[in-house]
Amino acid sequence: MFKKEIVMTILSRCFIGLIVAGILWSPRALFSQLKESSKKVVVIDPGHGGSDSGATGINGIKEKNVVLKVAKEMVHYNQNLFDNAFEIYLTRSSDTLISLDERTKLAKRLNADIFISLHCNHSENPNAKGIEVYVSDRKGEHTNESILLAFNIQKANQKNLGFKSRGVKLANFQVLREGSKRLPSVLVEFGFLSNQDEAIYMAEEGNIPALALSVLKSINLSK
Ligand SMILES: [Zn+2]
Repeated sequence: MFKKEIVMTILSRCFIGLIVAGILWSPRALFSQLKESSKKVVVIDPGHGGSDSGATGINGIKEKNVVLKVAKEMVHYNQNLFDNAFEIYLTRSSDTLISLDERTKLAKRLNADIFISLHCNHSENPNAKGIEVYVSDRKGEHTNESILLAFNIQKANQKNLGFKSRGVKLANFQVLREGSKRLPSVLVEFGFLSNQDEAIYMAEEGNIPALALSVLKSINLSK
């Protein structure tokens, strides 16, 4: 009898331990805790990566590197200037290629509030320049929020950095199509790497923080 009680106590403690460990380690529990916080969960998607360089500038800079730098700078500013106002996650934090599917799946797993894909533009026309921000052309419950965010980003970029605004556009991009079913999603095309002035701008390390800040300041703090 005595032995049986000891065994039962040990078993019950193990059981409680397993439950606690399960709560601590369960991604779902972790993410639901995040969701319960008042902070917006923001997924930043630096486009391309690894063997996919994206566009290459007339000065040799690669789109995949520019957008990763901007994304990391957004994380830095969120910590140091915005006092961690947002919960920011990157779909990639190094020069690796991940599928379009994985990028949107992360936002789903995190139950994120906003998805922002970062890109640089390219055109056969060397005079083409300016920022354009895309939202999905499939109307969904987050279309209006997506358009508002896209409008704010291109406006901040135009006002603060002097880029020409090419407006908010609709497109059937996979990352937007999948994402916008669940959350406000936009795809930012910073300037054109095929344009001399803008390629030089993107290549200048000192301009990366300005690009990061213009996007970060466009996100509404409240949920
Ligand atoms: Zn791109």
